[in-house]
Amino acid sequence: MNDKQSQLEQIRTDILSKNICPELAVQAKNLVMGSGNIDAKIVFIGEAPGKKEDEQGLPFIGAAGKFLDKMLAEANMNRDDVFITNIVKYRPPNNRDPSPDEKAAFLPYLLKQLQIINPKVVITLGRHSMEYFLPGSKIGQVHGEPKQIQLDDHKLTIIPLFHPAAALYNGGLRQTLIDDFLRVPDIISKI
Ligand code: URA
Repeated sequence: MNDKQSQLEQIRTDILSKNICPELAVQAKNLVMGSGNIDAKIVFIGEAPGKKEDEQGLPFIGAAGKFLDKMLAEANMNRDDVFITNIVKYRPPNNRDPSPDEKAAFLPYLLKQLQIINPKVVITLGRHSMEYFLPGSKIGQVHGEPKQIQLDDHKLTIIPLFHPAAALYNGGLRQTLIDDFLRVPDIISKI
């Protein structure tokens, strides 16, 4: 196992041994750490696993994930080019929103993942993952607009997008998300 891979595995071990969010853990089938290219320049961060993700231990493999795959393809990207994860890594019961405490409990592990993968761009999907990187921002106002932030000692470009699950069945939002998504390669080429 290469060094990055073993460091990422260690995060999983730490979450389990520290018993993070025990009330979510007892109901979950899997701890969903993320998947994709650990050397990726782009990391997508969603909210939390849903039913399918919990069953299979992989992020974004249900309906929202299929929509995400379609947008990646339209933007000439695929899952092997990027890394995909969530802020909360256990499924909240009945897919309820993750609580502030749950997000706070998992945040250090998300930040550790970013430190190891070291991407240039983080694409947040929905407000839950956006709010840490762009505090005080409203997704309806800042979606699709890249913003440079300083994370520890390196610069990171955040691109906040709507969540594919929210956009899936809302025609207007769906088109806005697709339009924003198609601008991502251009934004990245200018970084
Ligand atoms: N929604 C998310 O935010 N993450 C997933 O992994 C699946 C659906």
